[in-house]
Amino acid sequence: CIFCKIAAGHIPAKIVYEDDLIVGFEDINPQGPVHVLMIPREHVGNVASVEPAGAELVGKLVLAGAEVARDEGIEETGYRLVLNVGPHAGESVPHLHLHVIGGRQMAWPPG
Ligand code: 5GP
Ligand code: ZN
Repeated sequence: CIFCKIAAGHIPAKIVYEDDLIVGFEDINPQGPVHVLMIPREHVGNVASVEPAGAELVGKLVLAGAEVARDEGIEETGYRLVLNVGPHAGESVPHLHLHVIGGRQMAWPPG
């Protein structure tokens, strides 16, 4: 899994956040001036596969995403936290990842 390799440092990535459970790194194809992916270090599938015992991890992923947004200076202007699940959402990597996107005005609803 490509994100397991990034978490292990086997594939280079621009890391912007690290703690014991979570790594945050810049998306290779950014959709805004700020686009960071927050992932658990351990391989976890998308949020549809997370067991109730994983609720704390998912919560920490979201809060770490908010911390990155603060650090990146987009807390005031706003940002989007996104979990893509399955084909209609365009999920392309099967390792749980939270997108933190901001630094520009975004449309709602998404395309
Ligand atoms: P998804 O579409 O699954 O929600 O998001 C996957 C994201 O991972 C995409 O935004 C894509 O640009 C990013 N991505 C895929 N491969 C790599 C990679 O090797 N390095 C980095 N930094 N991002 C990647
Ligand atoms: Zn993985």
